[in-house]
Amino acid sequence: MPVRPPVESVTARAPAKINLHLAVGALRSDGYHDLTSVFHAIGLYDEVTLAPASALSVQVEGEGAGDVPADETNLAARAVTAMAALTGQPDAVRIRIRKGIPVAGGCAGGSADAAAALVAYDALFGTRLSRDELIEAAAALGSDVPFSLYGGTALGTGRGERLTAVLGAGTYSWVLALADGGLSTPDVYSELDRQRREGPVSVVSDSTEVLAALRKGASDLLGRALQNDLQPAALALKPELRKLLSTGDDLGALGGVVSGSGPTVAFLARDDKHATALAAALSGHGVCRTVRVAEGPVPGARVVRPQG
Ligand code: C5P
Repeated sequence: MPVRPPVESVTARAPAKINLHLAVGALRSDGYHDLTSVFHAIGLYDEVTLAPASALSVQVEGEGAGDVPADETNLAARAVTAMAALTGQPDAVRIRIRKGIPVAGGCAGGSADAAAALVAYDALFGTRLSRDELIEAAAALGSDVPFSLYGGTALGTGRGERLTAVLGAGTYSWVLALADGGLSTPDVYSELDRQRREGPVSVVSDSTEVLAALRKGASDLLGRALQNDLQPAALALKPELRKLLSTGDDLGALGGVVSGSGPTVAFLARDDKHATALAAALSGHGVCRTVRVAEGPVPGARVVRPQG
């Protein structure tokens, strides 16, 4: 049998996520909040290429690349270091990240890079780690990293890392409206804590309506059910998002919601054609920096080169 030559590099890609529903519970003693979240993976991707090298290095390309750390604190680099420690394989790897997911936008771009790096490392070195071991490594890197591995639509609990797949029908067309500048996730959670300390305690929302809409594959119901407990905090830190949300509503979006800790806003459209028209109209109104159209759900982190 011919021996397969060792590959020189492996490229994996991982999708962006939006939260169709994000219920934020109490602040825990470990600094995290208990969450219930319906995660949804959409077709905007980061690509991560790993190649053996003499030392660990990180190179980031694409929009917003300048705002992503290109050192050992990068989540993809931390994923490589974690995999090396787990498997005894090298951590001297050249990491190249091509950004297609908005940076600091609330779409889990950093988590996608970590998830893509985990599966690329696994393929490059043939680690034979089980799926459960990979998911455990993912959870240690960040709350959203396990979902970036899973993809699809999933209900997350704990700090967001305990996942069960959500059964649902159909695909959905989304317009992502990207705001100027990012928002820091810890800052948005702190603002929510401040609002809760100073105001009447808001009732934590529940996912029933979003899950029912997904079961039916009913985009009009889903549009009305989108909800994010972090949204008031994101709006307080970036008031211009109010105008963006109301403009999307006026332009006929089925619903709109700040994704995760923001500031990206996800608008649901009736179909692809409606999404393209809505994206063009939003751009024309000058209420956001740029727009993207994407479908969901899509699968999680996958090796794309070399193909198996
Ligand atoms: O886990 P990850 O590093 O992605 O979280 C970033 C920050 O977001 C945490 O340090 C914490 O401030 C906040 N967070 C939280 N509760 C969660 C998830 C994240 O407070 N469930």
